[in-house]
Amino acid sequence: MFKGSADNKIEAAMSELVPEPRQKPAVPMKPVGINSNLLGYIGIDTIIEQMRKKTMKTGFDFNIMVVGQSGLGKSTLVNTLFKSQVSRKSSGWNREEKIPKTVEIKAIGHVIEEGGVKMKLTVIDTPGFGDQINNENCWEPIEKYINEQYEKFLKEEVNIARKKRIPDTRVHCCLYFISPTGHSLRPLDLEFMKHLSKVVNIIPVIAKADTMTLEEKTEFKQRVRKELEVNGIEFYPQKEFDEDLEDKTENDKIRQESMPFAVVGSDKEYQVNGKRILGRKTPWGVIEVENLNHCEFALLRDFVIRTHLQDLKEVTHNIHYETYRAKRLNDNGGLPPVTAETEENHESNL
Ligand code: GDP
Ligand code: MG
Repeated sequence: MFKGSADNKIEAAMSELVPEPRQKPAVPMKPVGINSNLLGYIGIDTIIEQMRKKTMKTGFDFNIMVVGQSGLGKSTLVNTLFKSQVSRKSSGWNREEKIPKTVEIKAIGHVIEEGGVKMKLTVIDTPGFGDQINNENCWEPIEKYINEQYEKFLKEEVNIARKKRIPDTRVHCCLYFISPTGHSLRPLDLEFMKHLSKVVNIIPVIAKADTMTLEEKTEFKQRVRKELEVNGIEFYPQKEFDEDLEDKTENDKIRQESMPFAVVGSDKEYQVNGKRILGRKTPWGVIEVENLNHCEFALLRDFVIRTHLQDLKEVTHNIHYETYRAKRLNDNGGLPPVTAETEENHESNL
């Protein structure tokens, strides 16, 4: 159908305002290489040191969510990841008393410092998930929480008087705990990951891997990978967001071999060969959480903290938040959204 030029102009302006959601970030034009050594040192490489100094001064935010049935070791695992009591374990675990009737969302903030770098860590726990007789739609409050954090960020961004640094409460990473049944994923697992993988970076883990034999573990991992693929569920790191061949090679290995990480958590220390280690004592010896011959905790730790933390934050901002933002602006005819304050649900230890 023919459209008037005014319409076309509006459409062109709109398409500038509202980018297509879930597109790969634009790849910059390849610059022509110039050998700067010819006339002496310029100092371009000092940018790394400048960035390091800034990060040392400001620190950085990292928000991690844990989801899965009670008793799968979620709190223990985040405490193991950050080597501190960042998540409260339910003391004297008692199903009737402790499990809430509906899914609750509890965010607790901490500051962890290492080598002079401050991480403002928020652990978001979701007690009650998967614990009811009828667990239908129990992913909904979790999706709502995630979107509320995008909304908060968006409102700060469109403010005329913007804060210098917008507080970032967006969920950068969601660890989804799969029960070590050895059978297959439950409908609840599939439902959750299907709905949420579009809005947040999901990393599936097999909980309490010490309760399975090596063969069971290998077989279960393969089955879970297959089921996720058959159901079209994309977990983090998503294939479509690999930026180059190096990313692809590194991430393919993680997607095809490591996922879902079969982990063991513990906050108890033991003495093994004269060294203090975190482990779980069994009649057959101590299971060392950081020993790759015992479980894949160290692989998960390296992946989430040592190699992909910055990327988790970037994918959250460039893909998930961008999709939310584009949809909100689109729904509002390209204008910034006007909404009632979202509820505060933040407890802080900062
Ligand atoms: P949450 O309800 O998912 O947060 O689970 P908790 O972290 O509170 O742990 C529940 C129980 O499981 C506690 O008794 C833990 O000591 C135990 N537990 C935690 N992680 C593991 C694990 O990797 N293997 C085994 N066998 N038990 C674990
Ligand atoms: Mg817990």
